[in-house]
Amino acid sequence: MVYLGRNKKAKLSKKQARAQRKTDAKATIDINTIFKKQEEEKKVKMGIVTVPKIVTVRHFAELIEEPVTKVIEKLMQSGIMASINESIDYETAAIVADEFGIKTQPDKKETEKDVITHTNEKNRPPVVVVLGHVDHGKTTLLDAIRHTDIASTESGGITQHIGAYQVIWKDKKNHKTPITFLDTPGHEAFSTMRAHGANITDIAILVVAADDGVKPQTREAISHIKAANIPVIVAINKIDKPGADIDKVKRELADLDLICEEWGGKVVMIPVSAKQKQGIDNLLDMVILTAQMQNYQAQYDGKVEAVVIESHMQAGIGPVATILIQHGTLQKSDIIVIGKKVWGKIRLMENYLGKRIDQATPAMPVKIAGINNVPNFGDKVIEVANERDAKNIINTTAAKINHFNLYRASEAIKSGELQELSIILKTDAQGSLEAIKNTLEQLSTPKIKVSIISSGIGAINENDINMAIAAKAIIMGFKIAIPDKIAEEAKEKKIQIKKYDIIYRLIEDVQAVLSGMVKPEINEIIIGKMQVIKEFYKTADRKLVGGKIIDGKFVENEKVRIFHSGEMIGTGKLSSLQVEQNKVAEVAKGTECGAAIVTKVTIKPKDIIEQYKEEKVL
Ligand code: GDP
Repeated sequence: MVYLGRNKKAKLSKKQARAQRKTDAKATIDINTIFKKQEEEKKVKMGIVTVPKIVTVRHFAELIEEPVTKVIEKLMQSGIMASINESIDYETAAIVADEFGIKTQPDKKETEKDVITHTNEKNRPPVVVVLGHVDHGKTTLLDAIRHTDIASTESGGITQHIGAYQVIWKDKKNHKTPITFLDTPGHEAFSTMRAHGANITDIAILVVAADDGVKPQTREAISHIKAANIPVIVAINKIDKPGADIDKVKRELADLDLICEEWGGKVVMIPVSAKQKQGIDNLLDMVILTAQMQNYQAQYDGKVEAVVIESHMQAGIGPVATILIQHGTLQKSDIIVIGKKVWGKIRLMENYLGKRIDQATPAMPVKIAGINNVPNFGDKVIEVANERDAKNIINTTAAKINHFNLYRASEAIKSGELQELSIILKTDAQGSLEAIKNTLEQLSTPKIKVSIISSGIGAINENDINMAIAAKAIIMGFKIAIPDKIAEEAKEKKIQIKKYDIIYRLIEDVQAVLSGMVKPEINEIIIGKMQVIKEFYKTADRKLVGGKIIDGKFVENEKVRIFHSGEMIGTGKLSSLQVEQNKVAEVAKGTECGAAIVTKVTIKPKDIIEQYKEEKVL
């Protein structure tokens, strides 16, 4: 369908162009200009295209009115091999659409196979996370809140730690309202969740100890909350302690733009003692009030959407996960896909009291069994129609490309798509941190703002990577180490970490981004290694050698480096490969072969030839 429509259009415009030429010999109407104009018109006409969360390549091409072959080609350029009937996820589709200059938005309600007929959005309980500096009382507060739960006291149940729990809170008017609390205090969980694109938390409670005040992790929590753009309620804890100074905490928070209501600000601050269970009712009343103002809604019917908040292997049961329902009602025997690798048929469901349940509705945490593997924290859960669909999605959903780097930022600024450059800055000392921060912020122009969304002293950590993914930010480190594990994770998640030892180089790079001048970095990939056994034939420019592939593989027409006694002695290009008498395009590890190499250096037995290729990191 896409093909036809487009070709017709193309023919028409060629005809138009020809007719034009005939009638006006002097006018030189370039067909390319017409095509370009048509493309522009198409962009305007199409506006923002709504794309399902999972979409087949064919359907996606139809949606953006581009030939399927072109779409497949673009996918391949991004390293994704997907055929016409295979599925890609929204994020991948959005990036490809972007390459065609087409803007997209995710279809919140539907997946490709099953159109969810969401009709009746209903109120749902709020989902609350507790953040704050270590030892300020997050765990104690979560325990104190848990004790207020009428459901657990009535049933005599003991709340289990499954990653989240609910309390039924009776407000002053005696209305019973459930509130969901995430039970994993820690910024990492929060930012990981956001990095997965799952903004499951509605309200943050920021715990600050009244005897200790604002501390580094308090600041970190505030930057997470700001980045997530959710309402915050401050619990000023430990007011029972002799050294407690509530006003000092309020002053310190005011310095960070969190101004309490009494001082004309908007942030609710409740003095509490988690240990003595004081002020907890006020805090929960405020959570309910905030939730009522925000009016959180969800679909109770239709296909289930959820997020993994805890998972492990349980003896005798197998993989289990706690998931938090976002939409729909989960029931036994429902078939779900989790992330990109896990699927299952719900065999067992338990609530936070360890009670078996038959149904789980929005904002409810539920422990499930019946899945084929342990999923990752933050993975998305979707319900599908049947096992075949589940397997299909798992086999075909292509890897997500969510990377952001200096080059992408620079291109986005050049095209006017990006008006704010977000940076996560890590340095070796307070002095350098302040100096770089100030200089960078001064680079802001009326058109583009430079924002340091998070900064700190010390090595780059997992949190920084997750935040970079969630906020589309660049991580810049000055005179600091990147632990191997973190470097690997960044590579896997396609997040660029830039490391500097000279301040002006860092500044220069940011300036280059702002002026849209960054060139893509070149990544080198080692294809394979061969140990030379014999030299067959040589001319000044060409060598024919025999050897064995000891690592990876060898392919035609890629560059090589030649090593003699461990030292590089020259470079060249592999022009052809031969196994026994046959010419081949590729040779695998362990195989002996003949290789014709274009190089000037002499190659001797025992030399190592390393084959590599260079790829632009786009
Ligand atoms: P977290 O690291 O933020 O989870 O902090 P915890 O909940 O583990 O609390 C750290 C310490 O502070 C523990 O020894 C708690 O007993 C104590 N603590 C927590 N809340 C209060 C409080 O309201 N008053 C007092 N006096 N101690 C508290």
